[in-house]
Amino acid sequence: MTTTIGCLCGAVKLELSGAAMAHLYCHCDDCQRVHGAAYLPAVMYRASQVRLVAGEPVLWKLKTTARATCRECGTRLYAEPPGLGVRSVTATLLPEGMFQPTFHMQCQHALLPVRDGLPHYKGYPKMFGGSDDVMPW
Ligand SMILES: [Zn+2]
Ligand SMILES: [Zn+2]
Repeated sequence: MTTTIGCLCGAVKLELSGAAMAHLYCHCDDCQRVHGAAYLPAVMYRASQVRLVAGEPVLWKLKTTARATCRECGTRLYAEPPGLGVRSVTATLLPEGMFQPTFHMQCQHALLPVRDGLPHYKGYPKMFGGSDDVMPW
């Protein structure tokens, strides 16, 4: 199963293959600043599952997380958190209906409590080397 997604101008195309490791919302202060948003919908794949098929994105970094960005339209395509071997794809680029989030993470940085039925991890969940501690909300 593969899905091809692209930046907003179409210069960069990525092919996503196989099942994602996780669909989530990230509240970290890096995602907040880079995207100008309270939190970011993201789909986490192993790096090898995300293949560049057109264009040459710039790998740009605010602090520690490199982000593949289209040099033409500025779309942030995916992020590479250091040391995890994953690519976290911006979920707003997926075809409608594909994003099925199951948790929130890095909620210690949350700008507002989000009250939904999903777990709200303080940092990373266990599957990404964290503790599974959750927020009181
Ligand atoms: Zn573009
Ligand atoms: Zn983040």
